[in-house]
Amino acid sequence: MIRDTRISTGYALQGAGPFTDKEYTREFGETELGRAKILVVGAGGLGCEILKDLALSSFKEIDCIDMDTIELSNLNRQFLFREEDVGKSKAEIASRFIKQVVKDVKIQAHFNKIQDFDMEFYRQFTLIVCGLDNIEARSWINKMVVDIAMQHTQYIPLIDGGTEGFQGSVKVMIPTITACFECYKQLIPKQTTYPLCTLASMPRLPEHCIEWAHQLKWPKLYPHTKFDADDPEHVTKMYRMSLQRAKDFGIEGVTKAKTLGVVKNIIPAIASTNAVIAAACCNEAFKFITSCNPNLENIMYYNGEVGVVLASDEYHKLVDCPVCGNRPREVVITTSQITVEQFANEYVKVRFSLVEPDIFYNGGDIYNFKNGNKEDNRLLVEVIPFEENSNDGQLHSKYQLIVVDKSLQNPLKLIVKLE
Ligand SMILES: [Zn+2]
Repeated sequence: MIRDTRISTGYALQGAGPFTDKEYTREFGETELGRAKILVVGAGGLGCEILKDLALSSFKEIDCIDMDTIELSNLNRQFLFREEDVGKSKAEIASRFIKQVVKDVKIQAHFNKIQDFDMEFYRQFTLIVCGLDNIEARSWINKMVVDIAMQHTQYIPLIDGGTEGFQGSVKVMIPTITACFECYKQLIPKQTTYPLCTLASMPRLPEHCIEWAHQLKWPKLYPHTKFDADDPEHVTKMYRMSLQRAKDFGIEGVTKAKTLGVVKNIIPAIASTNAVIAAACCNEAFKFITSCNPNLENIMYYNGEVGVVLASDEYHKLVDCPVCGNRPREVVITTSQITVEQFANEYVKVRFSLVEPDIFYNGGDIYNFKNGNKEDNRLLVEVIPFEENSNDGQLHSKYQLIVVDKSLQNPLKLIVKLE
């Protein structure tokens, strides 16, 4: 079964719509689609869907990273895997499957942790799509793309899909320009905990009864046996205790599955939620690469729990975000023979696309774009002192340079590094 994806993509690209850029042409869209190199992070429930969608949308070059191996319990929703694949690399099996089904796609698997690769690896991609199930990996990738933007002025968009039960979200993040994953972090609800007094004396929910059995009753009854959620006998005992507690207080809804969910803190993965969110991620990637339509600004929520709710929201960057906020950028000069004027024009103005930058150092200005300075022709290293940095042994400017320009909302902070 070989699929030719050109027909459906051709339709999507055929003409400009009311919101398309004036300069858009179908040829442009097709060229960019053929040229884009996409990285998919995660080949699990969401990742399988994302890989399939991207390949069927005519993306030609895809890389996929996942450090996990296939488990039997994945097979109900991670549809690129078969029973004989259990124990093998998710990235490798998913890539092999896609290659068999979709004509013309070059797909490269990496059975690795994301941390195994350096900045140069990530810089080869046009766009990154994340289908991850944890916050740590998202934060790491987010910091990587923000660092790339800050150090190389290369902007690799990050499209992040997330699902939890019947709910999901998609974020489109352009590093340093729109809110980054770290900016969104404050929206993530803290893990639910229940006050002990509620568990001990005033349970109202089935969860309270289960947590009571888990935290209070079990250690009393079995002081020498640690509860093991993977032991079916333990789970049955826990369920019976919780059920009794619920009966005592007239609470309904304690089931064995619920008990397991609460003690393991599991939210079930739902295949259809993954499909909806992966499709939206792929749409955003397709629009960004081809420019055929504007992108989502910049987060979309999906809730299929009670009816269907879909909403999008424009979320703003946090000024003091520890990752993309106004922290100093590094500017590397490779020779000490650079004058202040050269530095201002060739390094600062060009690299940060400024109009008329003024540069301040330690309270005074060292460069004024309009008026010029007597120091313009002096070497930068003579005007600002450098000192050795204990981290990398290189010479760094002792204080930050502050750059002001009419194109900037906030002053730009720079640290000059001499390599
Ligand atoms: Zn941020």
